[in-house]
Amino acid sequence: MEYYSGQIAKLIEELSRLPGIGTKSAQRLAFHIINMPKEQVEQLSSAMIDARNNIRYCRECYTLTDQDLCPVCKSRSRDHGTIMVVETPRDYAAYEKTGKYDGVYHVLHGAISPMLGIGPNDIKLKELMQRLQGDVSEVIIATNSSLEGETTAMYISKLIKPTGVKVSRIASGVPVGGDLENIDEVTLLRALEGRIEL
Ligand code: ZN
Repeated sequence: MEYYSGQIAKLIEELSRLPGIGTKSAQRLAFHIINMPKEQVEQLSSAMIDARNNIRYCRECYTLTDQDLCPVCKSRSRDHGTIMVVETPRDYAAYEKTGKYDGVYHVLHGAISPMLGIGPNDIKLKELMQRLQGDVSEVIIATNSSLEGETTAMYISKLIKPTGVKVSRIASGVPVGGDLENIDEVTLLRALEGRIEL
């Protein structure tokens, strides 16, 4: 890296901190950025700064948003009594893309993983239980079908059962170990429609 001038080396170093970006990709991106029109670089950097400064958790469902409430929680046409529990905002987006789900969401921001030392208190589970004190008729658990996702689903269903709220788990149309966001919409819908009451 000492072959490059200080500022280029610095740019490459910063880019290579991003996930999935090795030194080679960082170099390619750095030279691409240097050749971009100045306005475009300014747009890119201000988009990053604005997002970082303004994005926060939705007050209801904890997805990431730049408003107090995300568009789904804000909408009056959604069924606020049905809550789908997902692991990440990307899973939320995957179900939203199908356009067929009319309930609301709850984003856990992770899954329980004893191996990684992630316990129930490290995800937004308390927050889910608080929401159940409102008028909720069904909780659909749509965590991934990985070991962590299944562990989390079991844990949540045990917590919710005594409250009398109906709990269901999306069908196993979702391949084992599959990340929700990589699965096509038809499979997602089939999994949702074929959900099983726990
Ligand atoms: Zn929300």
